[in-house]
Amino acid sequence: MRTRSLILIGIVGLIAATAYVAYTQYAAGLYYLAGQYDRMMNPYGIDPDAPEPNKRDRALHASMFVADLHIDTLKWERDLLERSAFGHADVPRLHEGNIALQVFTIVTKSPLNLPWQECVSGNAPDTNTPLSFMQGRPVISLRERAFYQIERFKEAAERSLETDGPELRLIETVDDLRELVADREAGDAVIGGILGIEGGHWVGGPEADSDDVRAEMEALHEAGVRLFAPTHRFDNALSGSNEGCERYGLTEDGFAALAAAQALGMAVDLAHISSAGLEEATAFLHDPVTVSHAGVREGCEPPCRPDRNLSDDDIERIIETDGVIGIGFWPQAIGPSVWRVGDAMRHITTIAGEMGVEEPSRHVAIGSDYDGSVTPMIEVTHLDVLTTLLRRGDEPFAEGHVRRIMGANTCRLFGTVLPGGSPEAAEEICGSLHQASPLDGEEA
Ligand SMILES: [Zn+2]
Repeated sequence: MRTRSLILIGIVGLIAATAYVAYTQYAAGLYYLAGQYDRMMNPYGIDPDAPEPNKRDRALHASMFVADLHIDTLKWERDLLERSAFGHADVPRLHEGNIALQVFTIVTKSPLNLPWQECVSGNAPDTNTPLSFMQGRPVISLRERAFYQIERFKEAAERSLETDGPELRLIETVDDLRELVADREAGDAVIGGILGIEGGHWVGGPEADSDDVRAEMEALHEAGVRLFAPTHRFDNALSGSNEGCERYGLTEDGFAALAAAQALGMAVDLAHISSAGLEEATAFLHDPVTVSHAGVREGCEPPCRPDRNLSDDDIERIIETDGVIGIGFWPQAIGPSVWRVGDAMRHITTIAGEMGVEEPSRHVAIGSDYDGSVTPMIEVTHLDVLTTLLRRGDEPFAEGHVRRIMGANTCRLFGTVLPGGSPEAAEEICGSLHQASPLDGEEA
């Protein structure tokens, strides 16, 4: 009797152990595949005509407060604190590129868009679903996918305090921003991180009323989110997208979400929104808005995609809010040459100049879209290439303007809109970041 029990326990144990090993191998296999997918989706591109920074370009870059309005690194299952051999960005690489302030944007749904399809449908199969499954992340709920990424950022930020590497610090208020600027000026190795949402797909909808929308926005704010883009690449319950199939303007829920964002101290990001939505949002909001990562339609040559980029009317509307446009450096935003980044930025300053803006470069920033399934032509560890091409293009930017574009303007945006912010606070915190430094007196 005793022997039979022991045999039975042995058999059950063996089955359980085999199932466990099979499961972990299977999970490890899926996890590996998710990494391979990341590697495939986030390569760097090369432009052989990219400029080579000289001593002064590098010195200028090293002296600046550099701020980037958009990366999607939280979508991938890499340790933020470890230098990865693939993908675009992580804390060590951001630090090497001299990034002081980085917006980490959360993507929750990416419908499959095949090359012959003219618009992105929200009903198309979502590539984030199998990815989340392979990564062992929340699969069903888009909201849970977002909050998982928020926790992942916070866990890395907390852990960064115990490492020898740079500190990663969540920026939630204007006081946080002030401290970050002061600490960076003192030479501390710290990177400020602002959490953003790219597509509030679970906010609003037929079941929701304006109180539900407001409650959802409050939950995001409470969790630390400080930048909110209502749409991503497809039309949703808040607004049409500029790649969506209907491209309608803001819905009632969309207006409610943006009103809540503004009241709570979250920057509104109009990247990806339809032109109709952009027009309505800029007329409705009184705070400066951003388009965090885009190109301009002017001079947009393949592989640049006009729909995804800003028309002159869009640009004027952003400028009227005293907003900031982040220009990216991947081919669908700017075209085949990295020098087009400077041209796109110059196009915006020209429009601002024509509108009578006293300081036309105050509306331009950088929005790299690193780890956003694109092929950027400048590596984060060589961001000084961007500083170089801004100083050396056909219509070069003076160094004070380069300082604005590379970070001072983004600092001003958040200094104005974050909790405790105002135009005066922004000027006090960020005003000196574009001033000439002793470096400016040296020889080129
Ligand atoms: Zn995007």
